[in-house]
Amino acid sequence: MKVTFPHMGNLWIALKALFEKLGHEVIPPPPVTRKTIELGARYAPEFACLPLKVNVGNFIEGLEEGAETIVMLGGSGPCRFGYYAQVEREILKDLGYLFDIIIVDPPMGDWTRFLQDLQPLGNGCRGREVWNALTLVWEIIKALDHLHRMLLKVQIYNHRGAWKCYEKAVKAITEVGDKKLLQRVTSESIRELALFSEVQNSTLAPLKIAIVGEVFMMWEPYVNLDLEKTLGGMGVEVIRSAYPSDWICENVLFNPRHMLRRLIFKKAARPYLNCFVGGHGWESVGKSVLYARKKIDGVIHVLPFTCMPEIVAQSILPSVSRDYKLPVLTLSLDEHSAQAGLLTRIEAFVDLIREKKQVTA
Ligand code: SF4
Repeated sequence: MKVTFPHMGNLWIALKALFEKLGHEVIPPPPVTRKTIELGARYAPEFACLPLKVNVGNFIEGLEEGAETIVMLGGSGPCRFGYYAQVEREILKDLGYLFDIIIVDPPMGDWTRFLQDLQPLGNGCRGREVWNALTLVWEIIKALDHLHRMLLKVQIYNHRGAWKCYEKAVKAITEVGDKKLLQRVTSESIRELALFSEVQNSTLAPLKIAIVGEVFMMWEPYVNLDLEKTLGGMGVEVIRSAYPSDWICENVLFNPRHMLRRLIFKKAARPYLNCFVGGHGWESVGKSVLYARKKIDGVIHVLPFTCMPEIVAQSILPSVSRDYKLPVLTLSLDEHSAQAGLLTRIEAFVDLIREKKQVTA
């Protein structure tokens, strides 16, 4: 099969490795660009959320490059993600593309159905080969997340150098074919990134800003207009509230530590929101409360314009901000958002927090 899939941050690297290991020809969607977004916005419904538009743009670009099969996650729950794949399929069919689509719905306890959905992707591989592919992918995801966490810590000390080192590491990981090589590349990159914090100026007490919100907007730098990099350039230590490895630990592996963390954020959110509202709306509220309790300097809430779960969170966060005296900036982005406007808002937010910190120091 010639397979393509949506582009979301670094996840394409893991998916590419997985499908290649399973013997498929992979046509990774090109990185998200203005053209991708324009294509999606042209053919998707106007009020669809931005991730759907980006997906449509990705798929058109992948199909134009020769892909024949699209692999897409399905979903359930109160937000629109549950019918994304079906809407995307109809849009592409109307445009005349010929393709197959494999929609992988979450297991929701029905593992037999889940494994049946995955069967075509197995490509006749034996259990051991599938296991090796899955474990390699898991290691790749963990390595990328670890390096990204380090990057967010050290970019404030040498912005250019840290990004260069990180991008070199990501490129090298894209090309690894086995766990040994992955381990070597990761350890070398960790060592190199750690050097940036060793030469840090110890008198520098950086501002800490956490980013909460819809995960696509958090993980895909093109759509969040390079928010993390911009903040790092202003000397702000950024804390990303969720990573792909966290999502897998919670939703696939049911890791006890992560399940406990879920209980903790739900408890923190309880005075404001006490039910699942779809997507990551609940997390946005609960984690903002937890960050406030940890005395983080501010929170940036990022969401796609018209995102239902995050609109619920957006309406609640002013109360959290008032109760905890926590500065919160909400960025609702769509295909019309531009870097210049965003930069002005972020600069004003960071200046405000700096002044607040000086006053209270
Ligand atoms: S979480 Fe928001 S952006 Fe994501 S699918 Fe649901 S409504 Fe759309």
